[in-house]
Amino acid sequence: MSLINNIKDEFFYENNRINLASWISFRNYQNKEKYRTIISNEKNHNYIFLEGVSSKLFSMLSEGLILSDIINFLKEENIVDQLNDFLIKLKSSDIIISKSDIEKETKPFYPPMTKEKNAENNNEEELKEWVKENGFLWSVHWNLTYKCNENCKHCYIPDVKNVDEKAELSKQEIFKAIDDMADLGVFHLTLSGGEPTLRKDFFKIVNYASKKGMCITFYTNGLKLNNEFIEQLSKYWIHKVGISIYSSDPKLHDEITQVKGSFDKSVNALKKLYNKGIKTEINSVQLNNTVQGYFKTKKLTESLGGSVTMDFSLSPKLNGDLSPLSFEIDFDKLIVLSATSNTPLSVDTKKDEWGYRYDEPVCGAGHDLLCIGPQGGVYPCASFPFSVGNIKTTSLKSIWQDSLYGKNKNDSVLAQWQRVKLENFIECGKYDYCSYCDQICPAEAFLEKGNYLEKVSYNCKQAKARMEADKLLKNGLNRKNICYKLNISKNFGWQNG
Ligand code: SF4
Ligand code: SF4
Repeated sequence: MSLINNIKDEFFYENNRINLASWISFRNYQNKEKYRTIISNEKNHNYIFLEGVSSKLFSMLSEGLILSDIINFLKEENIVDQLNDFLIKLKSSDIIISKSDIEKETKPFYPPMTKEKNAENNNEEELKEWVKENGFLWSVHWNLTYKCNENCKHCYIPDVKNVDEKAELSKQEIFKAIDDMADLGVFHLTLSGGEPTLRKDFFKIVNYASKKGMCITFYTNGLKLNNEFIEQLSKYWIHKVGISIYSSDPKLHDEITQVKGSFDKSVNALKKLYNKGIKTEINSVQLNNTVQGYFKTKKLTESLGGSVTMDFSLSPKLNGDLSPLSFEIDFDKLIVLSATSNTPLSVDTKKDEWGYRYDEPVCGAGHDLLCIGPQGGVYPCASFPFSVGNIKTTSLKSIWQDSLYGKNKNDSVLAQWQRVKLENFIECGKYDYCSYCDQICPAEAFLEKGNYLEKVSYNCKQAKARMEADKLLKNGLNRKNICYKLNISKNFGWQNG
């Protein structure tokens, strides 16, 4: 009995409940007698995974069950003596605040990120599969508005300067959908746009989602991220902030965003976030007029402390306007990039086995994630304007429950999409160059050809360039010879850009 009293004195507050740290996001899953939990500690950037009894116990604690109820459950399981150790582990992982540690709550963020903390987590991938197989929805990408204070030349949004704000979702509609997401098991919520900070109720939305346990990432151009904004943001223990940098040359970056001074603002925002200990992600879409400075941009972005994705994909505008494709990188440059180490196209790291299977979907769109548009439309992913419903007329819960993974398993539009596998695609996988392709994208095909089962011209072009580079390298040419043959500077990739 004295152990229970000690536990009570150390961990249970006057309301007879434990005190969860404000810097954690978590989701508890239960399907029949199967229990799983994911906890993301946004202070030290660690994930914790629980299963079985420990998951059930954590869900009881996090749902606010009082000590006597918890003891009764543990008695049934015959493990009362393990409660103390479990609580000590949660305390040492900074998940709960013991009474003696209560002052910790006011401590500032831990020091910034390290590369290791940005690494992919296999446990998370495994849980993502489990979540889907057990009928839950793993993540939602939400484009809160299509309004933007930049005007990127290659942007997939048709007109960021003329947006019908009145048609956008109201705060109440957004809160209702967040309630649905929590019920559906959504753990990762990405807030994006347009520029999401242009919504006046942005922090109210963040606050509401954070109270519902969501692990929130938000994509921004960083223009509004001054000290005051970042200070406010840090109160919500956001998981990650993503910002795009297009070039290491400020002039070139500003030319793309069409906003003078935007490079400095975005870079400064990234530096401030890093110093505050907030995890960052930098996405750098490479265009035909920036790619000559590929490695300079990579070096700059890596120096800013976040994880970096150098991205070669371009998408038509959501209304089918193909103008963003005019920024495609020339074929010869793609060959050189494929013959160069450390680019997304490098053939020296090409795996023998193709990353796709004919009997599986080609990506997670509509399986691991759904996207919600500013006016409530629901789509398989953010670049894919193939509507599977609208939350103004049908709840997000019904849309998911009527899908292949939901309870009702109706033959809804979403369920029909979820049945699509690589074997259904018209040409993908049927050419020799396909084994060099790692970008089968139904969204781009839908926008470019009006049919998501078609091939995407730019992705085929990249695959063909990789095959050509592989052939030249195997014929004994090196990168320098290939540059010479194609009349491209041998410094291509390390030039200004
Ligand atoms: S996009 Fe092109 S290269 Fe890629 S699998 Fe389809 S047809 Fe092949
Ligand atoms: S591959 Fe295309 S459709 Fe699939 S998630 Fe990525 S952008 Fe969306």
